[in-house]
Amino acid sequence: MSNLFYQGRGRKPVLEQARGVYMWDRDGKRYLDGSSGAMVCNIGHSDPNVLAAMRRQMDKATFGYRLHFETEASERLAAKLAGLCPPGLDRVFFVSGGSEAVESAMKLARQHALATGQGGRCKVISRTPSYHGCTLGALAVTGYATLTAPFEPMMRDMPKVPAPRAYLDDLNPNDPATGQYYADMLDAKIRSEGPDSVLAFILEPVGGASTGALVPPAGYMQRVREICDRHGVLLIMDEVMTGAGRTGRFFAAEHWVTRPDIIVMSKGLGAGYVPLGAMIADARLVEPVLDAGGFAHGFTYAGNPLACAAGLAVIDEIEAQGLCRNATVMGEKLLARLAGLMQKHEIIGDVRGKGLLCAFEFMADRDSKAPLPRRLNAYQRFVDIAYGQGLIVYSRRTRDGIEGDHILVCPPLIVNDTHLDEIVDGLETSLVHYTDEIAG
Ligand code: PLP
Repeated sequence: MSNLFYQGRGRKPVLEQARGVYMWDRDGKRYLDGSSGAMVCNIGHSDPNVLAAMRRQMDKATFGYRLHFETEASERLAAKLAGLCPPGLDRVFFVSGGSEAVESAMKLARQHALATGQGGRCKVISRTPSYHGCTLGALAVTGYATLTAPFEPMMRDMPKVPAPRAYLDDLNPNDPATGQYYADMLDAKIRSEGPDSVLAFILEPVGGASTGALVPPAGYMQRVREICDRHGVLLIMDEVMTGAGRTGRFFAAEHWVTRPDIIVMSKGLGAGYVPLGAMIADARLVEPVLDAGGFAHGFTYAGNPLACAAGLAVIDEIEAQGLCRNATVMGEKLLARLAGLMQKHEIIGDVRGKGLLCAFEFMADRDSKAPLPRRLNAYQRFVDIAYGQGLIVYSRRTRDGIEGDHILVCPPLIVNDTHLDEIVDGLETSLVHYTDEIAG
């Protein structure tokens, strides 16, 4: 009996060691980390330069409370992140994870509205499906019924618009009319809610666990920016999963040259070495809040020097090893290989992604796009089969959190061709095993 519990009681093998893209359990079994944990370990496990930077910081100081000290590590990491963001987005607020970063963004937006005489603005529009975190504020903008339902009476009902899932609606994602069609749903929603009541729109630039690597259709991002500007609504990009090079650029927003007002990031910033997140905001938002008395928000571990030293070393590795470029090159190869699997395996109904944020979705019928029957729990079963073979992939139900199953394949950005072969072989074997199982 373990004293631990997470979402359930199930026991997992005990992790003994992790190096590069591989992990070993206590019995010596080796796993290829095909999901970078939960899309976290972007630079692979146990990078010696990151470990050395952490040891150097540990020898100096491991904690300095933010109200007592700045630290060199947090100052340098903030400056580094500001330099990687579009001009103007240069005020950095550190946190320890993605949900905290999302909460911080929404609260900064609210305080900015108050400080600038727009106190009626309090609604944050988001998309369905989406995932923005599990704290009650972040959950209120999460469009994922199975996670939100138990807590609905405890949360403010935030407005939602559909995520642009062109593949389900039989629309061409490369046609700018498709992007306009979905973005205009945001315009309609802002109008129906009353523009003066809407604070912000939050979205994942490339979907993560919620939509399974959904890439926005042509023109969508640009149109969303125009609509937000037209109504004075702030645009928050949730780059918790996409940031730190995952999609082939340091921030996914760069793909569309769309300038958000606030970026939130976490996972790949600490890259599994430390819990670390950041909210990076436009100085135009922050200054009025500080002038009006300050940001009424903050976490004890904010700007922890050990975490920031690790974050800096992680970014150094992303740059020194050219990992954004590798994510682009290997991501294109991986998508092509997944498309190859789709040709062979009828059960795969869609393949999508950007950089090394890639996914495939199971369907019972490609023409009708019908999902596999819910009772099969395909998303869970497939992951278990792959895990048994030493391949770790990530999965979720994808259609409004109720139906549909996708599998995310998101290895560390350091993967090479040999690793890719191993991942695709593992997927192929698991697909054969799974299709045999449901047929028989
Ligand atoms: N936002 C996105 C897009 C995420 O993918 C996640 C986690 O998966 C979060 C927010 C919440 O991050 P955390 O689990 O670190 O609180």
